[in-house]
Amino acid sequence: MTLTRKRVLVTGGAGFLGSHLCERLLDEGNDVLCVDNYFTGRKDNIAHLLDSKYFEAHRHDVTLPLYVEVDEIYNLACPASPIHYQFDPVQTTKTSVLGAINMLGLAKRVGARILQSSTSEVYGDPAVHPQTEDYRGNVNPLGPRACYDEGKRCAETLFFDYHRQHKTHIKVARVFNTYGPRMHPNDGRVVSNFIVQALRGDDITLYGDGRQTRAFCYVDDLIDGLIRLMGTPADVVGPMNIGNPHEISVVDLAEQVIRMTKSTSKIVFRPLPQDDPTQRCPDIGYANRTLGWEPRIPLDVGLQRTISYFESVIAQRLEH
Ligand code: NAD
Ligand code: UDP
Repeated sequence: MTLTRKRVLVTGGAGFLGSHLCERLLDEGNDVLCVDNYFTGRKDNIAHLLDSKYFEAHRHDVTLPLYVEVDEIYNLACPASPIHYQFDPVQTTKTSVLGAINMLGLAKRVGARILQSSTSEVYGDPAVHPQTEDYRGNVNPLGPRACYDEGKRCAETLFFDYHRQHKTHIKVARVFNTYGPRMHPNDGRVVSNFIVQALRGDDITLYGDGRQTRAFCYVDDLIDGLIRLMGTPADVVGPMNIGNPHEISVVDLAEQVIRMTKSTSKIVFRPLPQDDPTQRCPDIGYANRTLGWEPRIPLDVGLQRTISYFESVIAQRLEH
C-alpha cells in the first residue's frame, strides 16, 4: 500500500472545495499535502484530517515558488467569491497568474500531472447558452470582476503553453457554481447568503430583478468530476466544464430556500453588481462522454444538507 500511495498536492486545500478534495483523496489512500495561505480558507475545514499521518498542512502563498516532491497537483488556490476576490484585486490576479507559473514550474520539475481549477467566469456574461467549451466568452477586461476572470483566463493560457512547450501533463476543469457544507458563511455567495439570511430571519438580499440564472452543483459531485478528470489519459487536457446543468433563476432559488427553511424572511431588492452575468449553465456533454460523469445530487437534496450544515454553524456560534 505504502509503495503505491500517491503524493498529492492540493493548493487552496483549506478552502471550501479544497478541504472536500483533501478529504476524498485521503479516503482513497493518497498522501495529501495541503498548501494554503488562509486568506479565505480556514483551519477548521481541515482540522479533522490532521490526525492522519498521511495528511500535512503547510502555510504558503502560491505566488511564491514551492519546492516539494509530488505526483499530482490540484491547483485550487484563489479566492472564489466576488467580495473576496475584489477585496485585493491585484493580489487575486497575482494568485492566479504567478500561482499558475509556480505550480506549473513545480509540475515540470518533478514530472507531476497538474489540474487547474478554472471557472465558468472565463465565459464572462455569455452570449452562447448553455456554455460549451469552444465558446470563447464575453469578459469585460476592465471591470471589477476582471481580476478574477482575466487571471483565470491567463492561467488557462499558461497551462496550455506549458503543455505545448514542455509537454507538461495538464488538465483544465472549468468549475461552475458549486455549493455545500464548509462554504464560508460570510463570503457573499448566493447559496450561503440566502441560507444564512433565511435561518436568521434576516431579509433575503436579491440583486437586480432576480431573473439572472445560475446552475448549482453539489460539492460531492464536483469533487468526483475533478478526481475523474485527473485520472484520464494524457491526451485528455480539457478545458472541461464541470457543473450541474440544472438551471434556476436567483429569485426561484430564494423562494426555494425560504420554503425549505420555513423562514419568515422577506425578499428585498438590491442593485445588480456591475458585470453580473445574466445567465449561466454548463453544457456537460464533454465531461459526460469522457468521464462517464454527471451530477447525482439534485438541488433539493444538496440544499437540505447545506441548510443542516449552516444550522449547526449558527447553533455553535450562539453557544459561544
Ligand atoms: P475558497 O475561497 O473557499 O478557497 C480558496 C482557497 O485558496 C482558500 O483556502 C484560500 O485561503 C486559498 N488561497 C487564496 N489565495 C491563496 C494564495 N495566494 N496562496 C495560497 N492559498 C491561497 O474558494 P472555493 O470555492 O473553494 O474555490 C476553490 C477554487 O475553485 C478556486 O480556484 C476557484 O476559482 C474555483 N472555483 C470555485 C467555484 C465555486 O463555486 N466554489 C466556481 C468556479 C471556480
Ligand atoms: N446574488 C444575490 N443575492 C446575494 C448574493 C448573490 O442575488 O445575496 C446573485 C448575484 O448577483 C448573482 C448570483 O446571485 O447573480 C450568483 O452570485 P454568486 O456571488 O454566488 O456567484 P457568481 O455571480 O460568481 O456566479
